[in-house]
Amino acid sequence: MLIIGSHVSFGKNQLLGCVEETIKYGGNVFMFYTGAPQNTFRSKIDNNLAIEAYKLMNNNNILFDKVICHAPYIINLANNLDPSRYQFSMNFLRSEIDRCISLGVKYLVLHPGSAVKLDREIAIDNIINALNLVLKKEDEIMILLETMAGKGTEIGINLNELKYIIDNINLEEKIGVCIDTCHLNDSGVDLNYFDDYLNNFESLIGLDKLKCVHINDSKNEVGMKKDRHANIGFGTIGFENILKVIYHEKLKNVPKILETPYVDDKPPYKHEIKMIKNKTFNPNLLEDIIKE
Ligand code: FE
Ligand code: FE
Ligand code: ZN
Repeated sequence: MLIIGSHVSFGKNQLLGCVEETIKYGGNVFMFYTGAPQNTFRSKIDNNLAIEAYKLMNNNNILFDKVICHAPYIINLANNLDPSRYQFSMNFLRSEIDRCISLGVKYLVLHPGSAVKLDREIAIDNIINALNLVLKKEDEIMILLETMAGKGTEIGINLNELKYIIDNINLEEKIGVCIDTCHLNDSGVDLNYFDDYLNNFESLIGLDKLKCVHINDSKNEVGMKKDRHANIGFGTIGFENILKVIYHEKLKNVPKILETPYVDDKPPYKHEIKMIKNKTFNPNLLEDIIKE
């Protein structure tokens, strides 16, 4: 069974709102931020809304086990030049983990961080140190380090960096990986040869660590280090290459999450999910989204 959904918003109805939005799009899984990704304002988790959400998921075959939370971008575990910012990032990650645990969400995607003015090796050690301080043995969660495009001084732009981080985490069972097709493309992985990448992943890190795939087309050519998502089939990766990732036999139990851009302020996900399920490119996709 295809496990697919999109980024949805955790608004005033919290998890219940996420589920309702997912049903509208025809997904069976979803990803959410517990608040705006750029700021630290977070509303208190409402247990009644969560209970309603669990019921609705049950009745609509939504796979709560595979639901993903995404940590905000303001967390940067890579740079400790300002110790108070570094501490803030650790504290905020800790509170995001606690929110996930209270909701019962098992996976939290995290951008590894940006080195800014530090050497990459030092920045990577900062990430390892921070994760080792934050993670606790009893946490029922897996932090998924996202593969990054290589914009600016981002860390996590190839398998060796991710492997090095994972190998140095004390509670290694609590660390996994989320691959992002746009980021892979922009970091220099040609998705025409996705099998080669996946084989490397398997031998270096192990496919048991791969717990989420972000599905995005890209506005840029391979290796441009930009990170600009495009709608499915409307970028440089192309519909066929994206389908190969989505329907890859080795990834069949891994949730696929769309993070493609809105078109004229309208979410594209219902139309993209339909097109993906049909396995046929819809050249009128953008018009269909706008028309709705
Ligand atoms: Fe991300
Ligand atoms: Fe992503
Ligand atoms: Zn991105």
